[in-house]
Amino acid sequence: MKLLVPVKRVVDYNVKVRVKADNTGVETANVKMSMNPFDEIAVEEAVRLKEKGVASEIVAVSAGPSAAQEQIRTALAMGADRGILVEHDGVLEPLAVAKILKALVAKEAPDLVVMGKQAIDDDMNATGQMLAALLGWAQGTFASRVEVANGEATVTREVDGGLETVTLKLPAVVTADLRLNEPRYASLPNIMKARKKPIEVVKPADLGVDPAPRLTVLRVEEPPKRQAGAKVASVQELVEKLRNEAKVI
Ligand code: AMP
Repeated sequence: MKLLVPVKRVVDYNVKVRVKADNTGVETANVKMSMNPFDEIAVEEAVRLKEKGVASEIVAVSAGPSAAQEQIRTALAMGADRGILVEHDGVLEPLAVAKILKALVAKEAPDLVVMGKQAIDDDMNATGQMLAALLGWAQGTFASRVEVANGEATVTREVDGGLETVTLKLPAVVTADLRLNEPRYASLPNIMKARKKPIEVVKPADLGVDPAPRLTVLRVEEPPKRQAGAKVASVQELVEKLRNEAKVI
């Protein structure tokens, strides 16, 4: 069984994101970049499926600048077998990524795509759902448990107020939630070994995909600073302030 694992290069989760001075986006120059944390969880799940003997090959894919090879290498060091970089320097919206992944699915014929539920830079939470829709495949989103057997994936999903378990006929798309697993750190020997694993580089046009954005970002702004709180001496004072200052009651 073959697994495709998309991994996105994003601003590292420890970095405080700053808006560019001209309000066109967020600053990424000289900022630490890493693999999207939910994608690390997806890679870990894929590697565990391989360790259990369920999967035989894991292909890690990233769409983005040449530097996204670093995130593919991280996936290779964690246990993926080979990588594909779909090189593109501009903005890639979820629909463009989903079309790119659809074209790679046609080429690679994986049985399962395991990806993150959401990228922490744009918080779209859309690519997995769009990919499943474009392929006409089943989807198990927000997965906190995945079992694969007999041509089916049983996925426990984190839904509002509880858990839902669905059975998907393969091929299917699964998106990883936070509690699915705890990703491993790549060991030094595995980092060294990953250097020798192959990464194929293609362009969106080679896959027949036009990645041009369909949305125009008008302006990006920092959220307003929170006002300092104040202590009140009594319930009466609180009610008075809520009524006359905040005007909420
Ligand atoms: P999003 O819909 O942007 O929140 O992203 C959801 C998931 O789609 C991510 O966790 C990745 O697994 C995948 N993804 C999104 N953008 C890319 C990209 N440029 N390259 C590879 N995978 C991506």
